[in-house]
Amino acid sequence: MRRLSPILLAVALACAPTVAVTETQSAPVSTSIEQVAPTATPLPSSTTTTTQPPPTARLSPRPIWLFPGPDHFEGDVLTAQVPLGKFDADELTAATVTLDGVEVAVSGSLSGDPLLGDYLMFASAIDTTGLLGDHMLRVEATVDGSSIEVSQAFTVHPDSQRPPQERSARWVPVEAGCCTVYVLESTAADRDIALLTSIIEDTTDEVEQRFGLEIAPIDLVLLDVLWGNGGYAGGEVAISYLDRDFGPRTADTVALTFVHEFTHAISRSLDGTHTPWPLNEAMAVFITGGHFKDQPLGPRAKALAMLGRLLPLDEFLSDFTNLQHEARYVQAGALATYIVETFGWEAWLDLYGADHDEQSWSGWMDAASSATLGVDLETLDDGFREWVDEQPLGNQIQDLELTIALQTVRRAYQAAYAPYPNYFIYESVRDAPQTAVALREAGDPVTAAVETFIAHAQQLVIEGHLDEAEPFVDELEAIVASGVVAGRLVTPFLELALAVDAEGFELLDYNPITGTGVVTAREPDLVPIVVSVDNGRLVGWKQVVSATN
Ligand SMILES: [Zn+2]
Repeated sequence: MRRLSPILLAVALACAPTVAVTETQSAPVSTSIEQVAPTATPLPSSTTTTTQPPPTARLSPRPIWLFPGPDHFEGDVLTAQVPLGKFDADELTAATVTLDGVEVAVSGSLSGDPLLGDYLMFASAIDTTGLLGDHMLRVEATVDGSSIEVSQAFTVHPDSQRPPQERSARWVPVEAGCCTVYVLESTAADRDIALLTSIIEDTTDEVEQRFGLEIAPIDLVLLDVLWGNGGYAGGEVAISYLDRDFGPRTADTVALTFVHEFTHAISRSLDGTHTPWPLNEAMAVFITGGHFKDQPLGPRAKALAMLGRLLPLDEFLSDFTNLQHEARYVQAGALATYIVETFGWEAWLDLYGADHDEQSWSGWMDAASSATLGVDLETLDDGFREWVDEQPLGNQIQDLELTIALQTVRRAYQAAYAPYPNYFIYESVRDAPQTAVALREAGDPVTAAVETFIAHAQQLVIEGHLDEAEPFVDELEAIVASGVVAGRLVTPFLELALAVDAEGFELLDYNPITGTGVVTAREPDLVPIVVSVDNGRLVGWKQVVSATN
C-alpha cells in the first residue's frame, strides 16, 4: 500500500472527488478594440528590425524543478521537486539534498500530479538569502528500491533584479457569481477582471440552471502561470489566466474551463458514497459538452474505438488514473452521454449518487449500475459499445489523434522544460510563502518562441485546420525530444521572439498566417502591442487598447 504522506494526501484530496484538469485561455487580443493610442510604453522607432536566430537555440531541461522559478532572486525560499517519470511511486527510503557539496537539513516526501506523474518534494528547502551567484544542487534518493541521483545548476540574482510586478503583487478578492475570485495585482487577470467577472457570472448561471441547484460559495484563484492544463478543483478552484497561454484551449474556449470546474463544484453535493473519480469527470465533460472545446462526444468515442483506445468499462475504470488524459476524458464524457440518452437524466443522477462501499471503481460501478440502471457492468459495457458503433464518425479520428499527440507532447514540454509547482500542499495557493509561485515564468525568447508555437498548433486543431496542424505537431515532437528549437515552422516564431526581445519586449502570441504577433513590454506592463511581420521582417508596432480596461 502506498504510504500517504501529508503532501500526497493533499494531492489525493485535490484529485479524488473533484479533481479536474482543465484548460486555459489567453484573452486580451480577441477581447480588445484595436486603436492606436498613446502609451506609457515607448514603441521602437525602427520598423525594419530583423534578428537571425543563433546557430543553435536550445531549451534547458530541468532535472530538479525549483520554485519560484525559473529565475531566482535573493530572498526566494526555493521548493525543490524531482520528477520520477512514473505514477504510483510507493516508498521513499532515503533522500539527501546537498547544496554546493554541503548537506541541507530538509526531509523529502513523495507527491504526485495527475498529469506529470510522481516526484520527490522538498518544501521550502533552500533559503537563498546570502546566496548570490551560481550554485549546484544535488539530490540522492532511493524510491521503490531504485537509486536516483540528479543535479541542477542554478543562479541566485540580486533582489534588485526582481520583477517589479512581484514586489507589489498581493491577492485581491472580487465577488463574481458563485465565487470569491482572488487575483494578483498587476497580472493579466487583474487587467481583464471585468471580462472574467462576466464569464464567471454567465457560467455560474449556466451550470446552476443545468442542475437546478445553487453552487455553494467557492474560492476561485486565478494564476498568472500555466499549471497543468490550466485548471484544478480541490479545496479551492485554481484556474490559469495568462497572456502567453500554451494550455489546451484558446481564448474563445476559456468559458468551458469555468463550466467544467463549476460542474465539479455543484456535483459534489450529488456524490454518493465513494462515487468514483471517473464519474466526476464524466459529469463535467458531459455538462461542458466536450473537454477544452465543444466536442461531439459520441462520434469522438467512436474515433477512440477505431483507434483501439476505447477500453472495456472494467478496465477503463480500473486504469483510469494511468490513462492518457484526453482519451480517458472522451470515454468518460461519452459514457455519461450514453447513460443519459439511454436511461435518462434522473437515472444518471441516481447512478452518480449511489451509495456503495466497494473500494474498486469497477466494483462500485457494477454494483451501482445494477442497483440504479438495472444492468450490471458487463451489460452496460455491451450497450455502450453498441451505441458507440452507431455514432457518425466525421473527421473525429484525425482530430482526436492530433489532439492526443499535441497534448502529450505539450505535457512532455512542461515536464522537461516548463514544470509547475504543487502548491496544493497548502490549503490554498494563497497560503504559499511567496506570491511569485503564481506569477513567475520564463521570459526568454527561446521559451517564448516554443510556447507561442504550441499555442498556434493548438489554435489550428481547435479551429479544425487539421491538415495544417499536423506538421506543427510533428515539428514540436522533434523540438521537445531534442531540446533544439529548429525547423521550418518554428523558425519564424524564434526570429520574431528574438527581434522583439532585442527591443525589450516579450512575445505573447504569433500567427504566421496573418503575419501578426502580440508582444508586451517587460512586466509589469500588461498593455498588449500588435506587431506585423512581412517576409520574415518585423515591420510594424501598434499599441492596442483593451476594451476591458
Ligand atoms: Zn475535471
